[in-house]
Amino acid sequence: MAGCTAVSPPAAGAPVNATEGSVTRSQPTPARTLSQPPSTQPRESQSATPNPVPSLSAVGTQVPEPSPSPNPPSWPSPVVGLEPSPAFVLQVPILMYHRIVPADLAGDSLPGLVVSPELFDAQLAALQAAGWHTVTLAQISQALQLGTALPPRTFAISIDDGWDDGYTYALPILQRHGFHATYYVIAGRVGTWKNVLTPAELKALAAAGMEIGDHTLDHVGLPYLSPVGLHVQIATSADVLAGFVGKRPATFAYPSGRYDLAAEEAVQADGFGMAVIEGWGAWESAANRFAVPRVRVSPSTTPVGLVGMLQRLEPGS
Ligand SMILES: [Zn+2]
Repeated sequence: MAGCTAVSPPAAGAPVNATEGSVTRSQPTPARTLSQPPSTQPRESQSATPNPVPSLSAVGTQVPEPSPSPNPPSWPSPVVGLEPSPAFVLQVPILMYHRIVPADLAGDSLPGLVVSPELFDAQLAALQAAGWHTVTLAQISQALQLGTALPPRTFAISIDDGWDDGYTYALPILQRHGFHATYYVIAGRVGTWKNVLTPAELKALAAAGMEIGDHTLDHVGLPYLSPVGLHVQIATSADVLAGFVGKRPATFAYPSGRYDLAAEEAVQADGFGMAVIEGWGAWESAANRFAVPRVRVSPSTTPVGLVGMLQRLEPGS
């Protein structure tokens, strides 16, 4: 089963999708205009139970406060109309995470998608010590479009589904190791679901050099959608996220890694430079830039094992 199936207590009345183990809404998402992002509400009002206050003492980290006036997002936008050279290939490993949170705070998320902050910290420490450094997915996309080679031991970190532990736990750990990540956010859940990144947290992530990528409006399977449905899930969600952070996403992640040719074409037509799935390999090219593989990192991925995995994925490393 492909990734992106983390679940959380949904809004009242939302059924569980038994096929994917994920949660979908029972009612269609209200239409939104491009200039009017979804209304947000105080997080305290989203749940009868307050969000737990995470303790990062185990990894020696303090949770930063979202900055009210952060720096603008810095990820590069795709170059409109520029097709990558068919002969140019990058082989940058891309890791796929979902939740960086203690297991007892992970709610109903599938255990295989939950990596503890301590393990995440140890994984990144091992990669840093082995000489690896990060780029964002938008930077890979730009390098592919421009035909720019990237240095050896370059890799990317992606974190799917927009849970707030990406801010409270993952961000300080990323910053400690000098790494940047791409967060694939489900736009329709921001301000709607509990334990999901708030607009202020999204802005703070972007200001910290993280990339905010598009992971649809509602995390629905794209292969079954009409052209209009595809556009809403791909482009309207991007505009909603742009309303939150001030810059349109440059890259896209298919929910559960499910896509077809129509979805690929819609992603390209809606202005993205690259889209990602789950799969073994490190290969970015003109031929597959709208279905680029990412390697899942699980709670059983040891730091040593992760370093070895990247070494196997990168030729000559
Ligand atoms: Zn997902």
